Amino acid sequence: MSVKPTTHSASCACKGVMFEVTGPLNDTVICHCDECRKTSGHYAAYIIVPSAKMEMLRFETLAWYESMDGVNKGFCTDCGSSLFWNLKGRDGWSVCAGAFDGPTDSKINYHCFTSEKGDYYDISDGRPQAPQFDVGFTTSSYASKKPTNTDNEK
Ligand SMILES: [Zn+2]
Ligand SMILES: [Zn+2]
Repeated sequence: MSVKPTTHSASCACKGVMFEVTGPLNDTVICHCDECRKTSGHYAAYIIVPSAKMEMLRFETLAWYESMDGVNKGFCTDCGSSLFWNLKGRDGWSVCAGAFDGPTDSKINYHCFTSEKGDYYDISDGRPQAPQFDVGFTTSSYASKKPTNTDNEK
C-alpha cells in the first residue's frame, strides 16, 4: 500500500500561473517591510518551500520584479497577484500564503520587519515579533550579507 504524498495546489487569481507544493507546508512568516507592504497592499504572509518540493504547472503570465539586490518577486501580469519571491543563491521559495487554493494547515510562526510596519494596524495575535529578520527566516546566504544571530539554530 503506497501513501500518496500530500500536494497543495496554488495559483494566481486568473489561473495564468499554477503550481504545486509536495508535502506538509511550513508555518507562515508575516513580513511587514516596506517592500512587502507595497507589493501586497498590506503586509505579506509567506510559506517557505524548498525548491525540490515546488513544481510549476503553468506560468504563461508569470513575470519577475527584482525588488532589491538578488530578491526576485514573481507576480502575474494579467491579474497582478503576488505569488512568491526568491533570493538568488537560496534554495527555497517564499510562497505567498494567499496563493494556496485549499487549506494550508499552516499557522503564523512570527512577524518580521515589524520596525517598518504600517501605523494603521496593530499586531495582536501574540506571535513573536522581530524588528528585522529572525533566525528562522534568514538563510546562510542572506545571513552572510546581513549578519544576525544565526548561531542559535544548530
Ligand atoms: Zn493571474
Ligand atoms: Zn518583506
